[in-house]
Amino acid sequence: MASMTLRKPRDLYAAGLVGSAELPALESVCARYAVALPPALAALIDASDANDPIARQFVPDAAELEHQPHELADPIGDDAHSPVEGIVHRYPDRVLLKLTHVCAVYCRFCFRREMVGPDKPNALSAEALAAALEYIRTHPAIWEVILTGGDPLVLSPRRLRAVMQALADIDHVKVVRIHTRVPIADPKRITPELVRALKIKGKPTYVAVHVNHARELTAKARAACAALADAGMPLLAQTVLLSGVNDSEEVLAELLRALVECRIKPYYLHHADLAPGTAHLRTDIATGQELMRALRGRLSGLCQPTYVLDIPGGHGKSPIGPNYLARTGTNGSERVVIEDYNGQRHAYPPRA
Ligand code: SF4
Repeated sequence: MASMTLRKPRDLYAAGLVGSAELPALESVCARYAVALPPALAALIDASDANDPIARQFVPDAAELEHQPHELADPIGDDAHSPVEGIVHRYPDRVLLKLTHVCAVYCRFCFRREMVGPDKPNALSAEALAAALEYIRTHPAIWEVILTGGDPLVLSPRRLRAVMQALADIDHVKVVRIHTRVPIADPKRITPELVRALKIKGKPTYVAVHVNHARELTAKARAACAALADAGMPLLAQTVLLSGVNDSEEVLAELLRALVECRIKPYYLHHADLAPGTAHLRTDIATGQELMRALRGRLSGLCQPTYVLDIPGGHGKSPIGPNYLARTGTNGSERVVIEDYNGQRHAYPPRA
């Protein structure tokens, strides 16, 4: 098993994860998009399975060189809503604060794949961070700050503690949320010191963990998540619907139940964004809706995420799950018809 993070096609070849014939194309992929496969995830891959769902997420593929005309370098429109470096202010009551462009693993479907990687500036400069915090300080409508990236939990506890303390000192910021894949990709980073750094007095820190397959929830990953939950941080999960990874009822059901068993509330099931070179990993929306419909009948409400699409161009997220409600009739004879989880329809009376 690899003991180092794999970053080059030749490393992946030496680990038996790609064939020699693939190397020239993979060099071209790596020249454009960052690659990092840490030991915790490399160990999960079954190299004898050409369709391994872990490999599909993290091992580069020549298909990434095939770009579609509708794919976008900035698919969710971060840049259009960035008033100062490091801040994305898309909705009135919350901002993203992007502290770093580095991640512990580079997901092949990443919506920020043109912006993340070690060859990008490693972190906000001290001046840029001060300007970003000043922006938050001078916009009292900002209720929630979401630390994202890159992955904020690749930063040292010392740096994180300083940012968390600065946010704690801003009265109108009531909630801090951290988006991360570190508990899955590099669980040993979730040390007691790091956990302490994320806690701030009087304000909740929510942690949204990115998980796409139940196999990612190893014993070490579960222990890392438990350390965060035990420290009083509510945990959420973000999952990206991916072709050949989790686009089946069985795989999603197993993942969503495992998350709840780990005290992680499934939050969003994201329709994969139009990131360049990711068509081979996207599903269609009808597939996602069918899966959501099947899961509603089958799983506890605790296990149900909201299926969402980030509208290309920076217009924000919209729920795109199946619709259970229809209206019929006009002029006083309006009726509502609602569908149950078996697909049977029932009339609901109008308001008296
Ligand atoms: S961890 Fe998040 S930001 Fe980093 S590559 Fe994966 S999806 Fe992108």
